[in-house]
Amino acid sequence: MDYQEFFENKIAALKTEGRYRIFADLERHAGAFPKARVRRDGKIKDITIWCSNDYMGMGQNPSTLAAMHEAIDLCGAGAGGTRNISGTNHFHVLLENELADLHRTEAALIFGSGWVANLTTLSTLGRMIPDCVFVSDEKNHNSMIEGIIHSRAEKKIFKHNDVAHLDRCLGEIEPDRPKLVAFESVYSMDGDISPIGEICDIAEKYGAMTFLDEVHAVGMYGPTGAGVAERDGHMHRITVIQGTLAKAFGVVGGYIAGTAAMCDFIRSYGTGFIFSTAMPPPVAAAARASVRYLKEHNELRERHQERAATLKRRLREINIPVMPSVSHIVPVLVGDPVLCKQASDFLMDSHDIYVQSINYPTVARGTERLRFTPSPLHTDADMDHLVESLAKAWNRLGLKAAA
Ligand SMILES: *Cc1c(COP(=O)(O)O)cnc(C)c1O
Repeated sequence: MDYQEFFENKIAALKTEGRYRIFADLERHAGAFPKARVRRDGKIKDITIWCSNDYMGMGQNPSTLAAMHEAIDLCGAGAGGTRNISGTNHFHVLLENELADLHRTEAALIFGSGWVANLTTLSTLGRMIPDCVFVSDEKNHNSMIEGIIHSRAEKKIFKHNDVAHLDRCLGEIEPDRPKLVAFESVYSMDGDISPIGEICDIAEKYGAMTFLDEVHAVGMYGPTGAGVAERDGHMHRITVIQGTLAKAFGVVGGYIAGTAAMCDFIRSYGTGFIFSTAMPPPVAAAARASVRYLKEHNELRERHQERAATLKRRLREINIPVMPSVSHIVPVLVGDPVLCKQASDFLMDSHDIYVQSINYPTVARGTERLRFTPSPLHTDADMDHLVESLAKAWNRLGLKAAA
């Protein structure tokens, strides 16, 4: 086989379809978020980022940075090993305690990323619990899907946020079999939120465990930023709460929270935990500072929600097709991969605005979109400029207006 030709053909296919990905070469400027510098076509210029998952700007927060600097000076760069073989640093222990406190659980366990937390936890549960069946929301993130597949346990897929269908799926499983319902709180591409209480009611009726991915909610929802389950009063009902330190907390890493026995079980049997080097101690220190900061700064959450609501309102006023999000995420439908990329390129090249076009497989074909994530740091002037520029893009490219 001509291996190189195989690779090249696969890439050519993506280009034909208009969904070949080109990364924006960014240099974010601490202290100036959401402003950044981009290197593009041999030129350098300053832009405003409108699609970051550093939702609250914690990646430049002075308390986060101070904690990271202090830990670098104290402990150096890396952890030096897996958690079991010399890699556990006191900052890891402090971070796990902080996360257990955030979610009011007995314990928490950290991983290199949220993706690895999902993959490792779900695959370990499905592999180890005899005869376990997963019941999984059809829109679950790739990391949950991979974890479930990797476990080789049986799975059923329920229609997105459809509690009646979830009830039927659970009803079809033999009552004695162990079951786990896997879902998210905020779905990141549509910005909708699951009915956590109703899902818990049904799971409890059938004696199923619940696994809730709060990646797009931790730091941003609930009085202390523990997520939508905290906001809605259901946090104590979830078997496994999973989150990331990389989005609203602005650093990197993933975690689960739950009972001491559950966390100890994953710690002891989860290969993605056991065989991977612990996160750098400065990263753990920064993440802990960030979690603590957001626990105490509800006004940032209020400002965040206000910014998102304002952007949605302003785009709807000029008939830009904002999708029906109930969260901080502002998705705008384009519906075609080529036009979506053209809109993104036009905004970057002519208006110094960076919003990534989102295409398949992240979203379904025909629902390609621009996904805006206004942060507490986006000013009214930033928003004026964005709204005007989007109106021009819609005009110039003849994009579909709101119905
Ligand atoms: C981003 C994401 C993850 C993975 O988290 P990382 O910390 O970025 O690896 C997991 N679940 C969902 C829903 C996500 O969007």
